[in-house]
This record gives sequence, C-alpha cells and structure tokens, in this order.
Amino acid sequence: MPSLHQTLHGVLQTIENAATLAGRPRSVTLLAVSKTRTADEVRALAAAGQSVFGENYVQEGIEKVRALSDLSLEWHLIGHLQSNKCREAAAHFDWVQSVDRPKLVAALDQARGPGRPPLNVLLQVNVDGEAGKSGCAPDQVAALADQVLAAPNLRLRGLMAIPEPHPDPARRRASFHALRRLFDDLAAHHAGIDTLSMGMSEDFDLAIAEGATLVRLGTALFGARSASPTPPPAVNP
Ligand SMILES: *Cc1c(COP(=O)(O)O)cnc(C)c1O
Repeated sequence: MPSLHQTLHGVLQTIENAATLAGRPRSVTLLAVSKTRTADEVRALAAAGQSVFGENYVQEGIEKVRALSDLSLEWHLIGHLQSNKCREAAAHFDWVQSVDRPKLVAALDQARGPGRPPLNVLLQVNVDGEAGKSGCAPDQVAALADQVLAAPNLRLRGLMAIPEPHPDPARRRASFHALRRLFDDLAAHHAGIDTLSMGMSEDFDLAIAEGATLVRLGTALFGARSASPTPPPAVNP
C-alpha cells in the first residue's frame, strides 16, 4: 500500500497535470474532506503537508478543529448548514461553502461579529435543479451574493456545487461548465471572487478542465468511507 505521503503527492501531481492541461498551472487548491476520519488521521495528512480540510457536520468538525488547534490548518464547512448551527460554524470554521439562503447570511454575519477576520463564504448552487438537494437556484445567485457583499463580517469568495452524480461524464462536464459560467458572471460584477469549488474524487479532472479553483477530495486521499448512514462519533475510542 502506498504511504499517505505518496498518496497525497500523487493526488497533487494529478491536480497539477490537469491544471496545466487546462492552461492554469498552480491555480487549483486541494481541500481534503475529512468527514468520518479521526483527528489522528487528519494529523497524519497534515504531517505529509496538507493544510486545508473540509467537514460536513458542524459538531464533528469542531471536535477536530479543537483537537488539532496546535496546527495551523484552514477549516471549511462543506455540508448542509442548519440555521441553529450558524453560531458554532462562524466561531470555529474559516470558510463556509454551503451558504444557500438569506437566513444563513444574516445568522452567520451576526455570529461572526467584527472582532475577527471576516468569514469566507461560498454560495452553494443546486446547478442541476435536483429536488430536495441543498443549494440555491442559479437565478438566485445574484441576489444572495448582494446580501453577502453587504454583510460586514462575511467575505464572498465564489461558488460551490455538487453536480448530479450522473454516470455520463459529458453530463457532469456540462454541469461544471454551467457553474463556470455563473462564476465568471459573478466575478465580472464583483471584486474578490476567486474560488470555484467543484469536483470530488470521481470527477475532479473534469472539474479542473472546466475551471475549478478548489477540488474537494475524500476517498482519493483517505480511501473509501464505510457506508454508515450517520457519521461515527469523532471522539477517541
Ligand atoms: C463527501 C464530500 C466530498 C468528497 O467526496 P469523495 O467522493 O470522497 O471525494 C466532497 N464534497 C462534499 C460536499 C462532500 O460531502
């Protein structure tokens, strides 16, 4: 089995090759998705050189943020956010990638407060219009962006999406392309929009080809997750 170090550097090389092919070398950030992984596993990947991590659940994430506060890691919340969790999310994460409705903008802004650097925000877009899925509709992006831009304690950085996991790569690529167009439109209207978060272990090469600046990889780094419907408690056994 390859070491964690070898796996990480193999993934970074694949990202770099895809970015170079797309004419954008050194432009893509790797976010390691550490949901269901222990703080010790995160620590090991950090020791191999990784510094940006993403969590889906506020509580599970906070436990790892606390356990690893001796390292200078950057933490992103990438899972669906309930409004009653905004206070904790704004206190412990550096980025929230899953902002998809006005209520969250107001709650995160108030919770972050003026005493710290602004919370980095991505708007999550339901790009394929899937029923029951998180994310705002593409035609709601502009209004939601205006709201974030008006919030003093938030900093709008761009867009995030999880396209429909369609088996046909051409269909996924079309979804990434549609997101890129939304992103370009947003960036044309506002300064400081620099992050397009799309692509997971299965399809990050396609996402980079279509303009991703940040890819979110779990399986490619840590191996397959067990298929438990709820995350295991992130406490030491
Ligand atoms: C789990 C998850 C990922 C990572 O998925 P892999 O297929 O393991 O790379 C990326 N983004 C989000 C929002 C996720 O929930």
